[in-house]
Amino acid sequence: MRSLHACIAVLLLAAASAAQTPQRQVTTIVTGGAVVTVDSERHIYNPGAVAIDGTTIVAAGPAADIAARFKASEQIDASGSIVIPGLINTHGHAPMVLYRGLADDLRLQEWLEKYIFPAEAKTVSRAMVRAGTRLAALEMIQSGTTAYADMYYFEEEVARATKAAGMRGVLGQTIIQFPVADAKTPQEGLARSEAFIKEFAGDELIVPAVAPHSPYTLDAKDLLASRALATKYGVPLLIHVAETETELGASKKAHSGMSPVSYLQSIGFWGPRTVVNHGVWVDAADIKLLQSHQVAVSHNPESNMKLASGTAPVPEYLAAGVTVGLGTDGAASNNDLDMFEAMRFAALLHKVKTGDPRVVPATTALEMATIQGAKTLGLEKLIGSLEAGKRADLVVVSTAAARLTPMYDPVSHLVYAAHGDDVRTVLVNGRVLMRDRKILTLDEPAVLAEARTIAGSVRAAVGK
Ligand SMILES: [Zn+2]
Repeated sequence: MRSLHACIAVLLLAAASAAQTPQRQVTTIVTGGAVVTVDSERHIYNPGAVAIDGTTIVAAGPAADIAARFKASEQIDASGSIVIPGLINTHGHAPMVLYRGLADDLRLQEWLEKYIFPAEAKTVSRAMVRAGTRLAALEMIQSGTTAYADMYYFEEEVARATKAAGMRGVLGQTIIQFPVADAKTPQEGLARSEAFIKEFAGDELIVPAVAPHSPYTLDAKDLLASRALATKYGVPLLIHVAETETELGASKKAHSGMSPVSYLQSIGFWGPRTVVNHGVWVDAADIKLLQSHQVAVSHNPESNMKLASGTAPVPEYLAAGVTVGLGTDGAASNNDLDMFEAMRFAALLHKVKTGDPRVVPATTALEMATIQGAKTLGLEKLIGSLEAGKRADLVVVSTAAARLTPMYDPVSHLVYAAHGDDVRTVLVNGRVLMRDRKILTLDEPAVLAEARTIAGSVRAAVGK
């Protein structure tokens, strides 16, 4: 009897102290939806909530638990929605949204030489890059992308527009052999890259990177100078490698039978924090090499399909332990920046290629767009999942649409049924960039009007 009374007393005391535990004041609580955390145990809380203080997530868990522990100045109601980590686009050329739909259904070489390079030669400028990045940022925020990797010209303008829109970017100034709008030589490109790295070092939202275009548009000396620059500042290096069969053939011809990956190995190019864009034409030895240098791959299924470049061996990469993130590539070869489509195409393409519907399941596609994308860019400690200590980059996806009704499995819906347009609210670094589809960081009508104006000079440049 005595011990039972003691037990009851202890329980009452515990209950009293729980009731008295003061709630921690935080800035924002996102609550009520199915919270798909993509944490290490892949927790899904439904109904769940995420507590955010300033720039950082302080807790993710069951909604009732978060309500008991925290009070917030701002509450975002996510009921009837799915809450996910912000999507991460690991490869693109943001300002190329201004060349969207300019020329389609052509081989890569013809598309580049007849349309893209002439349009770029005549229209790339600081103003064009600013306007294009604003348009791309608008599209990315509207479709739930919170961080992206980019390689273009006047990258400092890309960085400024990205910061102004409130997005996160891993951005690299393109280094290329032929004269381009912002650099007449690769040496000038390298000098601009170094200045860019210095300007944005330590920035809260921008990670500067080095972006040599590809092994076929740079000689060994400039490829190695790019590598040395990345090593000197400890920044990521982004490069297109093994995108097409033509590139593979040309590499073998020019470099005594070596593939692009083995050629880059032979000159001592590979190193840490490297992202290979595409990586389509690789063999088992190439995959092993990439894995041994911990090089990550940005898989761009839609661009590869549209340009008939081929199918990257994603199941083989994953089996070998190579980190794979998803990307859209530039909008001129996609033609949009919707990462929901990238997830869906990644999941579907490899099933067709292998004849096995179990390959690249929905969970894997979602991981490639979130936590694996973060790892691809070397940001997995900061972003890519909803858990305490990470930056508050998150997206609320409405499930109100007919095509998302009913819902048995939120991950299935995210990959196989949702569209970018289902995104309602977007936060980056704890700041709301879009609330209930209203963009807060960009003047939407002005961004669209500016893009339409620039289209006039693009038309004139290619005679359309
Ligand atoms: Zn690209």
